[in-house]
Order: sequence, then C-alpha cells, then structure tokens
Amino acid sequence: MIYLDFNRTTPIAPSVLEAMQPHWASHFLLPGQQHSQAKAVAEAVEHARDSLAMLVGCEAFELVFTSGGTEANNIGVLGICGAHTGGHLITSPLEHDSVCRPVERLAETGWSTETLQCDDCGAIDPQEVESLLTSETKLVCVQLSNATLGVTQPVREVAEVCRARGVHLHCDVTAAAGRLPVDLSHLGVDSAAISGHKFYGPKGSGALYVRRGVQLQPMFFGDGREMGLRPGAENIPAVVGIGAAAALASRCLDDAASNLEQLRERLVRALSVAMPEPPVLVCEDAGRAPGTVVLEMPVDARKIQSQARQLVFSVAGAGRPAEAMMRALQALGYDETRVRRVVHLSFGWTTSRDQVDRAAEMLADACE
Ligand code: PMP
Repeated sequence: MIYLDFNRTTPIAPSVLEAMQPHWASHFLLPGQQHSQAKAVAEAVEHARDSLAMLVGCEAFELVFTSGGTEANNIGVLGICGAHTGGHLITSPLEHDSVCRPVERLAETGWSTETLQCDDCGAIDPQEVESLLTSETKLVCVQLSNATLGVTQPVREVAEVCRARGVHLHCDVTAAAGRLPVDLSHLGVDSAAISGHKFYGPKGSGALYVRRGVQLQPMFFGDGREMGLRPGAENIPAVVGIGAAAALASRCLDDAASNLEQLRERLVRALSVAMPEPPVLVCEDAGRAPGTVVLEMPVDARKIQSQARQLVFSVAGAGRPAEAMMRALQALGYDETRVRRVVHLSFGWTTSRDQVDRAAEMLADACE
C-alpha cells in the first residue's frame, strides 16, 4: 500500500504510542485521586495541555480536551449559540460536516444562516463577512485550512472584522494544526477545534480552544472538569497522546513542511512527464497547507481508483468524507463531470520520494 491521504488521517507516531502505553493499565488512577500515582497522572495531563498550547499558540488553561475535532466543533458552535434563543450566523462554504450539521440543526430551530462565497482558489473575502454582519449575528465560522483543497483562509482579517462588531468567531484548525504554524492568540479567534489524529496522535483525541473570558454554554452535564464543558473521567491515554504528538509536531513542523512541498512538486513534475494529457492543478495559486495536491485528471477519478488499488487517496462522491470534497469543489463552481475527475493526494512525514515516484507511475498507468 502507498498511503497518500494524510489530510484524512495519519498513523500514530511510535514515540506517541510509547508515551500513551503506561496510561492504559498501570497508571490507571484519575488526576483527582489521592496517591502519588494520581498526582503523576494529573501532571501528565497538564504537561499534554502545555505541549498542545505551545503548538497552537495559546495559554494552556484555554484548552478543553475533547474526543476529537467533531466534538470540539459541536461544542464551539452550539456552545455559543446556546446562550441565545435565536439569531443570525455566517459560515464559510468549505466547512467540515461537524460545523455544517450543528448549523443545520440551529437553522431548524429558527436561526437564520448564511454561507459566504469563495473565489476560484477557494478563498473567502473578509469584506463579504463585514457586509453580511447584522445586529443579530452571534457567530461566524471560518476554518483555517480546508482538509480537501488545502486552501487556507484569511482568518486573522475575519477576526478583526468580528472583533470590531463583538461577534464570536469559531475557527476549525483541524486541518492546519501540526501541518502549518498555527498561532491562535495572533489569529484572534474566540474558539477553535483541534484533532489529534491529523498530526500523528491517536484517533479520538482533540481539543477545543476557548479564548480567555469567552463563555460557552455546556452541551454535557456532570462534574466540572475541563471548564465544565467536557465533564466525566478524562480519556488519559488520548490526552497524553495528543500532547506527545503536539510536542513532536512543534519540533518537526518546519522541516516537514519544506519536505512535503518538495514531494508535491516531485509528483506534479513526474505526472507532467508521464501523462500525454497532464492533470490540471486545482487551486494552484491559493495559499495552502504543504503536501496537499488536488488534481483534475483527464478521466473519471473513480476509474483511476479502481485501477490503482495499492494507492490510497481520495476522490469525490464515495462516502461521507468524499461528500465534503464534493461540497468543496462545488463551492469552486465545478460541475458534476469535473468533480468526478478530481483526485486528492496528501503527503506525510513517512512519505518517501520512491513512493511518490511509484504513485505517479500508477496514476499515469491508470489514466492510460
Ligand atoms: N474538521 C476537519 C476539517 C476535518 O478534516 C475533520 C476530520 N475529518 C474534523 C473536523 C473532525 O475531526 P475528528 O475526526 O477528530 O472528529
């Protein structure tokens, strides 16, 4: 298998797995219990929080550990809107299902919702956000980077617009954290979602950033843990795992980014040589996450997928994540025929040049 779908999920890093190991069985006490082992567990949780805060540029006390990006987006969106009986909210057209579905739920209960336009490169315009804000607007949701297209959004500019009008900005940084430098304090967002399995941490790990002073309504009720937003016994192995993955990413991010870009260029070059009708790069001129390549192929992408079975990559229209891909391409104005020709490949820390060369051969052969 040649795995080229790292924006979807990453393998757990060996050092992360090792850090988690004692917390499955031998170190089983909860942080609040009375024993030196419980104290050590509490320290491990706070160490993980510090490491994650360092990766995403915030204070450790502004992070709530969750079961992943989905839960963090749900608590972010519903937690701010839960404080109001109704109102108006605005989202970007490229949001993940875990933002879109809570927003749809709010629309069913009477909220008015609006979706921004994006340009040919998938970028939204902060001025459009400004023009759509009303006295009723309670929430704006704009992701930092799109998992499918890799396109990054002008979140800092949107935050300035929202801050000036006292409107909460929620930002899904799931596809960016651990891949791009992320500085939440500098971005100026009010809440943000993070997912551990996007940067070599365990699946089922994540966090919600809640800017100091921001109040969210809880969705779950129990003890007061995790700011009262995520009560119940902590998933300690997952927390330790996301912390270890964050520490690793902080160390490796810059070197990895330049390597990922080289791999991307290598693939594009190889395909342009190998294919008589080379693929067209989607969103080529956009600011984007490193190591993401989206190509419009000369033939149906699902046919390529059925030929190149050893290659793991994404195409639109096959299952739920693919729906998100379809939505992203439709937002760019792609019709159904063009959507069907698009393939998404994303590279990771373990991708080798040899794998990229073989992937290029497989793609070119499949197109023939
Ligand atoms: N947001 C984006 C942009 C994602 O790509 C994903 C994962 N597919 C999520 C949120 C949800 O994260 P998780 O899988 O950790 O729930």
